[in-house]
Amino acid sequence: MAAIKKRKFSKKVIRALEKRGVNLTVVKEEKPAEDPKLIKSKKILVPEIISVKEFAERAGLPVTEIISELIKNGVMANINENIDFETAAIISDDLGLEIDREEENRGEFESKRITISDSKNLQPRPPVVTIMGHVDHGKTTLLDKIRQAHVAEGESGGITQHISAYQINIPDPAKKKKTRKITFVDTPGHSAFSAMRSHGASLADIVVLIVATNDGVMPQTIEVIEQAKSYNLPIIVAINKIDLPDANIQKIKQQLSEYGLIGEEWGGKTIICQISAKTGAGIDQLLEMIILQSELLELRADPEAAATGIVIESHIHKGAGALAVVLIENGTIHLGDPIAVGSVFGKVRILEDFKLQPILSAGPSMPVRIAGFRSVPGFGDRVVAFQSDKEAKESAEKFHQRDTLIKYAAAKSIAKDKEEKKILNLILKSDVAGSMEAIKKALLEFKNPAIKVSIIFAGVGPISESDAAMAVATKAIILGFRVTISLPAKKVIEKSKISVMTYDIIYELVDDVKKILEDLLPPIISEVEIGRGEIIAEFRNDKKAVVVGIKIISGEFKVGDKVKIFFGDNESWRGNVVSLRRGKEQVERISAGIEAGIGLPAGAKYEIGNKIIDFQIHEEKQSL
Ligand code: GDP
Repeated sequence: MAAIKKRKFSKKVIRALEKRGVNLTVVKEEKPAEDPKLIKSKKILVPEIISVKEFAERAGLPVTEIISELIKNGVMANINENIDFETAAIISDDLGLEIDREEENRGEFESKRITISDSKNLQPRPPVVTIMGHVDHGKTTLLDKIRQAHVAEGESGGITQHISAYQINIPDPAKKKKTRKITFVDTPGHSAFSAMRSHGASLADIVVLIVATNDGVMPQTIEVIEQAKSYNLPIIVAINKIDLPDANIQKIKQQLSEYGLIGEEWGGKTIICQISAKTGAGIDQLLEMIILQSELLELRADPEAAATGIVIESHIHKGAGALAVVLIENGTIHLGDPIAVGSVFGKVRILEDFKLQPILSAGPSMPVRIAGFRSVPGFGDRVVAFQSDKEAKESAEKFHQRDTLIKYAAAKSIAKDKEEKKILNLILKSDVAGSMEAIKKALLEFKNPAIKVSIIFAGVGPISESDAAMAVATKAIILGFRVTISLPAKKVIEKSKISVMTYDIIYELVDDVKKILEDLLPPIISEVEIGRGEIIAEFRNDKKAVVVGIKIISGEFKVGDKVKIFFGDNESWRGNVVSLRRGKEQVERISAGIEAGIGLPAGAKYEIGNKIIDFQIHEEKQSL
């Protein structure tokens, strides 16, 4: 008689077995714990860290049994405490379980994208394209040419005011009756590119690399290639200025191939177009290639989601206040939407398209101009739209708290190595080994000659008292990813005021560390020329003051500004502009083409014929 547990089979199978004469009886269930070897075949999946409770559930065993098995193996753990995979493996053997590591979610680093692709209502969206290349290779000319040809700018002879992005409509290369949109973004330099990326965003989907035939591959060309590669962005090459008589296209192709950009005719995969931004030759083919490339990328967004966008330009407008050009990443933004940008919240008071015409809403990949920010948002900041003012406000407050914490951490947590190089010590705790590795990798990519990231300890599991003690001893910041803080650790943290930051999204953690590092970097100080002139006469030079006559060649001079005097190429003196006089009249500023009297402090050193430069000192925050 076959002793088979009847309830293990479907009715259909039971009927089939009974037909074949198999006698099925209902047997009593064996007691599983009597001899663990009997249930040896039970296989469960266990993550890198699991709570005792969860483990018991997965094992189908009473919690008490798990705890006593742990005790047998010298591990004291209560129901809510976590054990790691290794410990689970040790006790599993005795419990008659076979365990395997659970697959971890390794995709969090691109969490923004995951959110988008998780959406149920994904629709194709236009590609966002940026044109980059070495200076003078024709980026501006190409952007202008495409705009002129494809953007109807009203009847009054075009728009004088341009924003840094626009969208064009071209016939669909595949379905001639339809049209396709492409968004072009004018990047204000290469560092913008990485600034944007560090926010977890991408400025563009496709990079058009412009290379002038008369110049070839130059340092910035290489920089763009490397950047695009490291961000996994597809490059379309536009060889420009083919109208020039000495254009040597083969030579450029040869140079590009050295950087892995090999055209199809040479057996490579790179799309290489030949254009003249000046005459317009080849531009239509370039646009077709952009459409083709974007097809392959399967760009999608959810137009119904709450909008998020990236600030690509911002300034203060006399009438409208803070204005920002925002590229919508996902969702649809509406006039009147409550919004938050970092720690500032507001409302979309004015919504305009890229032609600066008022609109009511804008969807994915559209560049728009928005008014309604309480302060000027920065380049690369993310704008998020909300259903209610309350939510926008809460988001801004949360950001503010994070920001405060970052500033505090930057002020408190700095050590120095033997060479006096600043070191940011970090203690990293995460839920699973996979995310820990991803975070470590991302953090160690921050490199700068002035500062070093040092991960002094990285481990899996809650933030413990010993982590806190280690942070105190090493001036480290504790970063927790999807972990809790144990009670004793909390006490140490409160007492010693160390910085502990916990996260659920990897790029937020990485972004915050980057902000801390940037706060610690010395600013880049540069002198920006405001005006340039020549000393042409001496009016007064005594114990009290110096007044000389200057001719302003370019820019302007202002009272109070800094000036420096050059004897040939050597700076001979620097000080401030005390006064300016035009004829008999005292003035505040004087611009190019005018001769003026300039008052300098007594003792200023000069000779007639010296160059004099009005300049300002710019302090720019360094970015990583
Ligand atoms: P950018 O620095 O890359 O923005 O370069 P610009 O667009 O300002 O162009 C630099 C110079 O190259 C300008 O004098 C343009 O008129 C010229 N230029 C741009 N494209 C072409 C082209 O296709 N043919 C020729 N002959 N000159 C071009």
